[in-house]
Amino acid sequence: MANPLYDRLFGAHAGKDTPFLHLPDGTVLTHSAFLAKVAQIAHAMTALGLKPGDRVAAQIAKSPEALALYGACVQAGLVFLPLNTAYTVDELTYFIDNSGAALIVCDAKSEATLAPVAAKLGAQVVTLNADGSGSLSDRASDQPESFDTVARSDEDLAAFLYTSGTTGRSKGAMLTQANLLSNAVTLTQYWRFTDADILLHALPIFHTHGLFVASNVTLLAGGAMIFLPKFDLDDMIAWMPKATAMMGVPTFYTRLLDDARFTGELTKHMRLFISGSAPLLAETHVQFETRTGHRILERYGMTETNMNTSNPYDGDRRAGTVGFPLPGVELKVTDPDSGKTLPDGEVGQIEVRGPNVFKGYWQMPEKTAAELREDGFFITGDLGKIDEDGYVHIVGRNKDLIISGGYNIYPKEIELVLDEQPGVLESAVIGVPHPDFGETVLGIIVPEKGSTPDLDAMMAAVSQALARFKHPRKLILRDELPRNTMGKVQKNILRDEFGDMFT
Ligand code: ATP
Ligand code: MG
Repeated sequence: MANPLYDRLFGAHAGKDTPFLHLPDGTVLTHSAFLAKVAQIAHAMTALGLKPGDRVAAQIAKSPEALALYGACVQAGLVFLPLNTAYTVDELTYFIDNSGAALIVCDAKSEATLAPVAAKLGAQVVTLNADGSGSLSDRASDQPESFDTVARSDEDLAAFLYTSGTTGRSKGAMLTQANLLSNAVTLTQYWRFTDADILLHALPIFHTHGLFVASNVTLLAGGAMIFLPKFDLDDMIAWMPKATAMMGVPTFYTRLLDDARFTGELTKHMRLFISGSAPLLAETHVQFETRTGHRILERYGMTETNMNTSNPYDGDRRAGTVGFPLPGVELKVTDPDSGKTLPDGEVGQIEVRGPNVFKGYWQMPEKTAAELREDGFFITGDLGKIDEDGYVHIVGRNKDLIISGGYNIYPKEIELVLDEQPGVLESAVIGVPHPDFGETVLGIIVPEKGSTPDLDAMMAAVSQALARFKHPRKLILRDELPRNTMGKVQKNILRDEFGDMFT
């Protein structure tokens, strides 16, 4: 009996003594040793009475055991539900309550606070700590090192991931075996991952990027990962010589570039650098190439769909674009009002369809119906355009669109002009309520270290470049932009902060 995701990602490596995880202490976990952990955890969860289809909510530090828990869920037919380690108990209560999890896996430190939440739901609690210890590991340690894989079909749920909550309350996205496997297969081929690859992995594994893009691709290819608990510059630089590829969020790249030890020499042997989860500044792309000779490959995806587009492996990786729709993924740009497809070059909402697109939001039938069309196209909530060469450009999120005096204003267009001004590191343009115009444009500027940009000169430059209705009413200097753990700028926080500026 088959379990396509388990069989391809995990089962395929049974009996292999090839390296799978290179750990910070210098030890190596082989594929077969990892699979033994997976099987033991699958037994431990089955012994707790969990049944296929049950959800396992996990708020745990990144560790080999945490990744093995994912594998164990797949093997036992359970639905893996990883949760951001930054969530507070209040937030966790919402997620656990909302998901109806049967098992909660947490750090021993949160056990006492989560126990009442679990009791209310009738869920069990076990612990898994950053060092791999805990009651789950205790239960797993004397279990057999192989497990009869539970049969699953393509359409069975494999994971349940909450969106990052950048634009509002996080939504639980239901992902099937086929969603995850199809994307892993596509990305592995597109980015040419093989069993010779060693991926430098410093991303969290509670998010699509670190869990599915990075780990599934490496698992499918049969390669290895340097599995670091978090992004630490010293560790990144120390491990880089052993890696062949790296995946990161844009802040990884800017932080590496800020360090003089990050040189062309250090990266000479590297095959590939990939960026995603938030827009990579064109300037970072250029700086990176100047420093290392490598062109970062930017791709675009989201919790609900895994990856949708990618810059090419061979061919021109264009700064400021997210490349082409991946094989098997259809992408169109539509008019938000009529839903009609717009001609290339025009900005509209990005819709995608393909085997990667999720089954809907957990217990949100209305939201699912509003965003997932009957014909299978998912309205991503991102705005963008397709250029004359077929490259997709993201100009921002629908919710960040500014409507001022009846005009649509895309923040990205203004941010690009502001970013080019002398002394500017980056910027965020938001719409804030205005009595006459409905909304008006506000620009938040982060200066480069040690410089004080001239705001009047900047206003003059914007006036030259952009139509009057797009001019920021005010520019504000800030040391940094609010960002979440994936490096996404949280414009909702800026809107809350500056919301009553003109009212
Ligand atoms: P929520 O849906 O809860 O508001 P979120 O959309 O930030 O949160 P994720 O699913 O983690 O949650 O992120 C997906 C989003 O990240 C995409 O819709 C897009 O806006 C952004 N994104 C991902 N990759 C890129 C990229 N390369 N360039 C620009 N934006 C990107
Ligand atoms: Mg989203």
